[in-house]
This record gives sequence, C-alpha cells and structure tokens, in this order.
Amino acid sequence: MPDSPALQPRKRRLAIAAWPSSVFGVLVVLVGVVISMPPASAQLKVATTTADLASVAREIGGPAVDVVALARPGEDPHFVDAKPSFIARLSRVDMLIEGGAELESGWLPALLLGARNPKIALRQPGRIRANIGIEMLEIPTSLDRSQGDLHASGNPHFLIAPSNMRILARRIASGLESLDASNARAFQDRLKSFEGRLDSKLLEWRSRLEPHRGRQILGYHNSWIYFAREFGLKVDFVIEPKPGIPPSARRMADLITAIRENDIRAVFVEPHVSRRFAETLSQKTGIRMVMASQYPGGIPGTEAGVIELLDRLTGDLARALEQPLGK
Ligand SMILES: [Zn+2]
Repeated sequence: MPDSPALQPRKRRLAIAAWPSSVFGVLVVLVGVVISMPPASAQLKVATTTADLASVAREIGGPAVDVVALARPGEDPHFVDAKPSFIARLSRVDMLIEGGAELESGWLPALLLGARNPKIALRQPGRIRANIGIEMLEIPTSLDRSQGDLHASGNPHFLIAPSNMRILARRIASGLESLDASNARAFQDRLKSFEGRLDSKLLEWRSRLEPHRGRQILGYHNSWIYFAREFGLKVDFVIEPKPGIPPSARRMADLITAIRENDIRAVFVEPHVSRRFAETLSQKTGIRMVMASQYPGGIPGTEAGVIELLDRLTGDLARALEQPLGK
C-alpha cells in the first residue's frame, strides 16, 4: 500500500536533510577502500560454509581473494540458519568451499538451487568439497536416519586436525590457481608459509598434549575424533547418544560412571550446544569444562584463524587434563 500523501513530504525532507553528511561519510569510506585494496576485479570471490574453511582459504588466497563464511562461528554446522542473502552471495561467487560428507546436507542444497551459479556446480574448479582426499573415520556400515544420524558419510568434523588442514590447503591452492593463473606463484608461496607455520606449531601442540597421551576426553557431539587421533587422545564417550539427540537421565548416570572409571578430566563445551549437561557432569565428578569450538571466532580470542584456535584449544585442554577429578 502506498504511503498516505501527508507522510510523504516529511520523509522527503528528512532524506534531503541527511544527504550531505551521509554522502561525505560514504566518500571517506570509498576513498579509504580504494587506497587500501587491489582492484576489485582482480579478487576472486570465495564463499565457504564454515569459518574454519574460510580461515584456510584466506591463508592461501591472501589479498587475491575475498572470502566470506556463510555460517557464524558459533553456529551448529549441521543446522545453519540459511538466510535468503546467502543465495544472492552464492550467485556471485567464483568459488564455494564446503566441508562435504553431508556436513551441510540439511541447508546447503536448497541455497545452491536458488543461486544457479554454474561456476560452483559439482566437478567445476570453483567447487571444493573439503572431504575429498581426507581419510574419513566412522563411515557407517548401515544407516538409520530416524535415529538422528547426521554422519551418514562418515564423521565430517575432520578439519580440526592439522594434518587434514594441510590436505585442504593444498587443494585450495590448486583450485585457486586454476581460476587465477596470474597469481599461481603467490598461492604457492602462501601455501608454503602456511604449512611451515602449521608444522612448527604442531610440534608445540604435540608436546603440550604428549604428557596426556592415551587419555580420554569428553565431547557433547561426536566431533572430536580427528583432533583426538592427531594428539594421541581418545573420545570413546560423547554426551549425546546419537547426533542431534539429547541425553536421557539414564545416559547421564552412565556418563558419570564412565568419567570416574576412566578418569576423564575434560569435557569440551561448544557454543552451539546446551551447557547444562556438561555443568551437571562437572558438578558431580569434578570434570573440567573446556570452552571449545572447531571454528575460529567460536570462542573469543580465536578470530584470527585456525592456528590461533588450535593454540587456544591445546593450551586450555592441557591445563584441564593436568587437574585430577575433584570428586
Ligand atoms: Zn556432526
């Protein structure tokens, strides 16, 4: 319905009164952007589903790419709030990087249908499924989706392991090269630099966790097995009985027994899951709660990227594992 005639002039006057200062503000911003950025046409537009993939893409692409993650770092990657703006974004990108292995199967396919972008169709160089080339763990022999199984193609939470980050980084470098050959040398240089930093940090992270080799850790969702394998830890128990199903009172009682019997000293608490189960277990057993995320920015102070995130996780976890159960 059109605005009433009485309201329209008032709106127009307000708009004119606000005009000069807002134009000045826009000009200041534009000048700043033009000075600090390479020509926009030179940048490849990259979308990733999650923030960890975006972090690795930025490491390799540097100033030659403009990377945006669709999911917020604190969101459950299986259940992302898919906004209509995601379709517009996906329709304009040169590359899409997804986790794959059905991590995003609940929300990404509809967005791709809407975006109709041939550059990111399957088997195009602009489409990277991160799980290709990764040794997938826990591929089920039979499926029962009615039981809430979200890991139908194996456990898709593999990128939190540095060895898998390295595999993905190489794939991103070769994908970017095939879209922008003029920057091939830069992508290779950045890949080498990323691998070098990852390797040296990995030594540090391993030595932090080495005293705890063989120890169990607890998670809410079954998303820590690759991390545990990388650092010689075990995750034989998780709080939810199946992906997406909350624990019963009976299961909580069983978990309390398991924590005591196995001397499990740390439980990872991720921003997208309810804290109350971990809090109950902590009150009953003394198990330490470790704020954790697999996504840079999922816990404060880790926004800079996957290396900073692993630095934080390994440090906080090692400190928690040093503390014996209190009760
Ligand atoms: Zn999962």
